[in-house]
Order: sequence, then C-alpha cells, then structure tokens
Amino acid sequence: MRKEKEILEVGKKFKKENVELEKLIKKYDRIAIFRHIMPDYDALGTQLGLYHFIKDNFPNKEVKVFGDNHVTFTPRLFQEMDKESDSWFNKPFLSIIVDVGNISRIADPRFQKGEKIVVIDHHPKNEEFANIHIVDTSKAAASELVVSLLLNFKGKYVFSKESAKNFYIAMVGDSGRFQYSSTSAHTFKIASFLISCGISLNEIYGAMYLKQIDDLNVTAYILNHYEVSPKGVAYYVLSDEVQRKLKITTERGKENVNLFSNIEGINIWCSITQDTDPKEPCWRISIRSRDYVINGVAAEFGGGGHKQASGAKITTLDELPKFIEALDALI
Ligand code: AMP
Repeated sequence: MRKEKEILEVGKKFKKENVELEKLIKKYDRIAIFRHIMPDYDALGTQLGLYHFIKDNFPNKEVKVFGDNHVTFTPRLFQEMDKESDSWFNKPFLSIIVDVGNISRIADPRFQKGEKIVVIDHHPKNEEFANIHIVDTSKAAASELVVSLLLNFKGKYVFSKESAKNFYIAMVGDSGRFQYSSTSAHTFKIASFLISCGISLNEIYGAMYLKQIDDLNVTAYILNHYEVSPKGVAYYVLSDEVQRKLKITTERGKENVNLFSNIEGINIWCSITQDTDPKEPCWRISIRSRDYVINGVAAEFGGGGHKQASGAKITTLDELPKFIEALDALI
C-alpha cells in the first residue's frame, strides 16, 4: 500500500486513535458497522467498504452492517443490510460508526450495546459518546478519511476490488463527483489509490447515475415549479400528493437539488420534501451552496451538515418563508 505525504499527515494527526482502532479490529471477533439514517452514497459506501476490508483481511470474524436499506441504491449498488434480533447484540462486539456523529441520527440504536464504540466522521457537529472519536471535517467524504486511516495501519492488509468500489462510490457521492470545495489533493490521492485496486469507473458511474425515463417527469415538474428568492435562493417543494403523482418516495425528493448548482444568480439551492412518516411528519430540506456557509441556518432549522451541503426540516410550510429569509440573509 502506498503512503503519500497527504495520507501520512492523516496518520500523524490521528496516530493514537488509529493505533487503538487497528488493535480493536484485531481484537474483536464480532464487529458491527453503523451509519446515519436515510443513507446516501457516502454512508452506505463507507459502511460496506469497511465491511469488505475487515472480511477480506480477517475472514473468520463475524462482521455485520446495520441500518435501513436505500429505496433505490439497494440492491442496484449496495448489498442488503443485515437483520439480527436483539440477542445478537447481547454478546460482546465492537461498534464502528461511520459518517455520523449525532446519536439521534445513527440508523440503529443498538450500536450502544457495543463493548467499545468508535466513531469516524467528517461532519462538524458531533456528540461525545464514543471510546474513540476520529473526526476530520476537512475531508470531502467519510470514506476518504476511513481509507486514509486504513492505509496508515501498521499491519499489511489487502484492499479488494469490492472494498475499493464501495469506498470510491462513497467518495464520488459526497464530493459531488470531485466538484465541491471540500475536494483536495488528499481526496485525489485516495481516489487514485482506489482506482489502482482495479475498479471499473465505467461500471461504477453507470450504476450510480443511470436514470429511468420516468425520472424525467420529476425533473420536468421541478423545472416548471421551482421558485427563486430575491437574493437567489432556488427551491422546489414536493408535497406528498406530488410525490405520489410522480411515483417517487420521500428519500428521492432531494435527487434533483443539484439541477440548480451551476446557474448564474442562484447562490443557494434547496429541495423541500414532505415526509408523512407518522413518527415525525415534517418537510425535509436539502440545502446546497456554491460559496455561502449554510450549516448555521441548517442547525437553526433542526438540522446540520457541511458548509456547502446540509439538511434541515420544518414542521409546516408556514415556516418556509422564514427559512428562505434566513438563507437570503446569508447572501
Ligand atoms: P442531505 O441533504 O440529506 O443529503 O444532507 C446533506 C448533509 O447534511 C449530509 O452530510 C447529512 O449527513 C447532513 N445532514 C442532513 N440532515 C441533518 C440533520 N438533521 N442533522 C445533522 N446533519 C444533517
């Protein structure tokens, strides 16, 4: 495994934690990997990339992946999650949580039963609840950080094509195909390493971005109904009724948010999707920006995330004007 300057720097920064992480992975025969609810490419790709890395190097360990499956990524892109009854969690195991640092957003609360808990994340807002907490907000994707840590392990390990593929999908997803400002020399060093593991970019991009003809109806609806605020906040609203008409699920509401990413005069762009889940009925908001730091407003409206890619929620559409005004005030 190659270790270039940028990768060695990560090893140095997290030396103590990483030595401990390698020890824990070696020590535990039962390991459970978790990530956030409503998973995206980075959450699932990092979780499964790490799963394959551990299985490939320690075939006798029992490794499990937990959380909700994605409505369209599973099984097209990612394997199914494991389903275990509560009794599985009663014997000692190591919990590794990736791409999330808030307890309430971890997809399966049984991570708490882990004898040791490790968090590896690139989000700024984090709670202190783990034995090892490795957070680096400068990384474009959680997978970029995880791969860098694995490359800095002291032992000699293999990186299979399957592991590299999952990690690569994660990185492409969260860096917006290496477009977002979080993309760095380190991002490309990790991408280059993953490509050197023999993955097929053609196959990966085909699987990630191939659309159905029906998807064009969703795009058409959005282009006919979006609004732009006085300061250049573009947004579209997908009520439950519209989602049914367009035959999409709530998770898919944000899929078109980046339609507005390269339009002069549009500075911030959002999707607003009604979620009728009786546990928490709300309107889920995905916010993206080119220059403006939006995670402060996201935090004000029940969410959080990165400087240029955040999530928030409002209870009713009556709150929408206040939310758009808060974004306008940033500009
Ligand atoms: P999304 O718009 O759902 O793709 O989320 C964009 C980014 O913001 C992702 O990195 C999410 O993990 C993060 N995010 C979304 N919703 C929340 C939330 N309620 N609290 C904290 N972070 C969030």
